[in-house]
Amino acid sequence: MNLRIPGPTPLPPDVLAAVGQQMINHRGPEFEAMFREITAWLKVFYETNNDVYILTSSGTGGMEAAIVNTLSPGDKVLAVSIGVFGDRFAEIAEAYGARVTRLSFPLGKAADPQAVADKISREGPFSAVLLTQNETSSGVTNDIQALTEAIRGAAGDASPLILVDGISGLGAIRLRTDAWGCDVVVAGSQKAWMAPPGIAMISFSPRAWQAYARAKMPRFYFDLGQAKKYAERNQTPATPNLAALYGLHLSLKKMIAEGPEAIFARHQRIGEYCRAGIRKLGLGLFADPAHYSNTVTAVTLKEGMNPAKIEEDLRTRYGIIVGSSKAAGVGMIRIGHMGYVSEADLDQVFAALAELMPR
Ligand SMILES: *Cc1c(COP(=O)(O)O)cnc(C)c1O
Repeated sequence: MNLRIPGPTPLPPDVLAAVGQQMINHRGPEFEAMFREITAWLKVFYETNNDVYILTSSGTGGMEAAIVNTLSPGDKVLAVSIGVFGDRFAEIAEAYGARVTRLSFPLGKAADPQAVADKISREGPFSAVLLTQNETSSGVTNDIQALTEAIRGAAGDASPLILVDGISGLGAIRLRTDAWGCDVVVAGSQKAWMAPPGIAMISFSPRAWQAYARAKMPRFYFDLGQAKKYAERNQTPATPNLAALYGLHLSLKKMIAEGPEAIFARHQRIGEYCRAGIRKLGLGLFADPAHYSNTVTAVTLKEGMNPAKIEEDLRTRYGIIVGSSKAAGVGMIRIGHMGYVSEADLDQVFAALAELMPR
């Protein structure tokens, strides 16, 4: 089977084997050693000296943690959305009683830094701005550096906290947490990290901790004050997902050996390879060419190609599983290419699509 959805992604064989190891005491020395290494290695990819915590949840739990640990009901929040996951971030903030102003861009487009700055100048100050690094629903990567600069430029001294959903980007597409001033950044184990689902990672800046001290949204399981207390002894407050952590530990070890620069370059190459293959078939690319994602490609099909039928044929006839359209009325499939993926994996998709093209 060729699992080409944008998460969960396939595991390398040694990571798969590591996931099957026997359970250990999560309050014992083996766990503490593993926890210490995972945390240190994550900081390399986050490019941060901020705290990084490991949560047992999917990525969405990490997004919820970002909100409830920094905000109070009634706080003004600017949610910059370029698709499904940007909308989800806004919905979480709304569910906990924030006063959310949405700045939405059409699906397929990136967020325009000038438009974000204008919104802040006209309607600010905001307590926080919510950003998505890589919008998985449209195959678009935002320019987080330009966006954070625009936010600070417009807000001046009243600079809001910057909370970033990096779930389908981090570990494959560079995000410089400290250099770009991102206060909270969320990642998810099942995307670029070549690990099973079930672990969210979250970085937390000193400014985020100042906000934490004032934040009044209800929280218990995702209280990062508890995570901090336990992290001091290399533990988590509650029982963690050990199997997923076994996998993440080994995949991070492999990623550190390959090196961040090499990994980012590899994703750039595989992204370009995917786009070139799709163009060669005569199919379309949904995303704005200035902001193509190197982890997921949204492919627009030809007239006469039924997306549900294409998906089914890919699955039943070729063993290829792709993502479905997230754009209403657009004949689209999405191809994931992050983590453990090769050009040969994509060649299989191109060959199958070539046979499914209308003649
Ligand atoms: C996958 C994804 C999420 C949600 O992650 P879950 O692990 O399914 O909760 C959020 N944001 C982005 C950008 C994603 O790609």
